[in-house]
Amino acid sequence: MSVLDLARAEIRALQPYSSARMEASGGQLLLNANESAWAPTGDVGTGCNRYPQPQPSALVDVLARLYEVRREQLLVGRGSDEAIDLLVRAFCRAGRDAILIQPPTFGMYAVSARIQDAAVIEVPLRGDFTLDVDAVLAAVTDAVKLVFVCTPNNPAGSVVPRGDIERLVRALDGRALLVVDEAYVEFADEGSVADLLERYDNLAVLRTLSKAWALAGARIGCLLAHPDVIALLRRIMPPYPLPLPSVDAALLALSGWGQANARAHIDVVRSERARMRAALARLPGVRGVLPSQANFLTVRFDDAEAAYRRLFDAGIVVRDVRRYPGLGDALRVTVGTPADNAQVLAVLASSATVRGAA
Ligand code: PMP
Repeated sequence: MSVLDLARAEIRALQPYSSARMEASGGQLLLNANESAWAPTGDVGTGCNRYPQPQPSALVDVLARLYEVRREQLLVGRGSDEAIDLLVRAFCRAGRDAILIQPPTFGMYAVSARIQDAAVIEVPLRGDFTLDVDAVLAAVTDAVKLVFVCTPNNPAGSVVPRGDIERLVRALDGRALLVVDEAYVEFADEGSVADLLERYDNLAVLRTLSKAWALAGARIGCLLAHPDVIALLRRIMPPYPLPLPSVDAALLALSGWGQANARAHIDVVRSERARMRAALARLPGVRGVLPSQANFLTVRFDDAEAAYRRLFDAGIVVRDVRRYPGLGDALRVTVGTPADNAQVLAVLASSATVRGAA
């Protein structure tokens, strides 16, 4: 059995659109795509009069080296959001198939599934936000085609040990694709599980340049998976998904200088995360701060709504995560620069004083 047997038959049979850019090998006069022959006026970006390569080879090379996979194991898209959407559309038949998630977790898995009219099976994380592998496996039915695991978890900040990922992927062999979302892995102590791709064809890993690589605005994310899965998703991707200015921004961010810069900022986030966690935990009105392996801290308050409002009124927006199971008293605060973090602490400390005085 191949992992492609899990995908929708009509997608496997689809004759994809043949894009004009694929017909050119470079150095030719391009009159096959109805583009303008003239560069746009102003500082718009060299080459923008031409459609970009569907999977720009220079970027694919750099990303494959960065993530330590082969080129054919990698798909670049508009953020990992796009990869999530493509996976759901390729693997889940509307009205029949399902995905499995473990709340609290990133919201887009369920949204993409609902857009596709796929069911969403929920197996909550345990009270300490660890993953219950046995409960997940017990909930996998024939309808489940994708199991999403978010590690480090957004919004809880917890991680799933590599041993649990291996147990899951082995048990799901021939039944479902395990999609491990590593959007925040650069901030974690444990590394990626992408090396397991060589052993398991039903594993997929999501990576993004939106967090540690500071490129949320460029919208570049990757799916790492078996070459057959990558080839399948390329069939349903729009012909020219990656805007040239975004590709150029990514190449710059991933240059030697860019990598050094990003690594320095990751170090700052990790040390600020530890400092902030300790400082927040000492504030009156703070019930606790969850341990986090990501670039945010999830903070429990006696009165989360008042804390949110207080920060908001001081010009600071944090994420209200009270709707998530197990987080009914919590706000999620992204770790910023040391100056940003000092502001958060100052506002919360002053609100504690005011409440204490009242
Ligand atoms: N996965 C997780 C866990 C996230 O938190 C996010 C963004 N908040 C994404 C994926 C989407 O990231 P991208 O910008 O790559 O689409």
